[in-house]
Amino acid sequence: MTDAGALIIDGREVSKSLREGILAEVSDFVDRHGRKPGLAVIIVGADPASRIYVKQKAKSCAATGIHSLVEELPADSTEEEILSRIEELNRNPEFNGILVQLPLPPHISEEAIIEAISPDKDVDGFHPSNLGALLLDRPRFVPCTPLGIIRMLEHYDIDPAGMEAVVIGRSNIVGKPMALLLQRRNATVTICHSRTRDLGEHTRRADLIVAAVGKAGLLTPEMVTPGAIIIDVGMNRLEGRKVVGDVDFEGLRPIARAITPVPGGVGPMTITMLLANTLRAARMARGEKPPYQGEKR
Ligand code: NAD
Repeated sequence: MTDAGALIIDGREVSKSLREGILAEVSDFVDRHGRKPGLAVIIVGADPASRIYVKQKAKSCAATGIHSLVEELPADSTEEEILSRIEELNRNPEFNGILVQLPLPPHISEEAIIEAISPDKDVDGFHPSNLGALLLDRPRFVPCTPLGIIRMLEHYDIDPAGMEAVVIGRSNIVGKPMALLLQRRNATVTICHSRTRDLGEHTRRADLIVAAVGKAGLLTPEMVTPGAIIIDVGMNRLEGRKVVGDVDFEGLRPIARAITPVPGGVGPMTITMLLANTLRAARMARGEKPPYQGEKR
């Protein structure tokens, strides 16, 4: 905490510096192998928010020298059609990473789609074998949002070792892997969720709080002990299209040690980790053994 209040953790700045490193590594990869790393993104239907995310991903790939393909399939595509497209991409050496933008239309099983992606190309880190590898302390591809948070903490020399960490939210793609990564970094981790009896009782004990729920105004100053580090994953679109997180940013800023804004905190890091995972997949496909991103140095 500074006299002016919390350190504002700037995800855009951290992303910028990491992307410079990725750009250099991609160029080195191209020199060595004569081919760019490639990412294929499948989007089913024309959900406007998903379209924006997919566009951002493709743009970020281009800016770091990664080749990308965005394939828009009609909303009424059958599960078989999507699975067969994934199978083709699994076999295509041009693409090292495959990502299917979620959510999918209700007639498609997300589980079946995620499981169809080759674990070696699963740059989102959602495949059961990659989540299992993380659980067993042998991470291969780690979900981008929690990985980005670890890299962001590392950038600011915030070491979770020994901290009381509270993760709010237990989803497979954010809350659970976040808890595992913090535990790997030697924090003592509590996971809270929709059935937690008294959320504030847990958060008041925390040195580090990660809020990943999707509910504006969830974490208020009364629930936080001064000096805590607050990471806000939530993305909530208010009327008038303003996007806010789960955390009362203005209320917490004067008392926190460090805090992420929304937008400009976790969001940019998520895409940056997708780029890092795609480069990692390309290197692994060539028999290289890139270090796990987010490993303690
Ligand atoms: P999810 O809906 O899958 O999970 C939400 C979790 O919150 C659940 O585990 C639930 O138990 C818990 N929860 C619900 N109400 C609660 C309450 N009152 N108190 C405590 N816990 C409660 O969501 P998700 O996919 O994990 O995403 C969470 C949020 O993070 C969303 O707002 C999403 O948009 C955002 N998100 C942001 C990024 C990014 O890059 N910035 C990436 C992924 C998700």
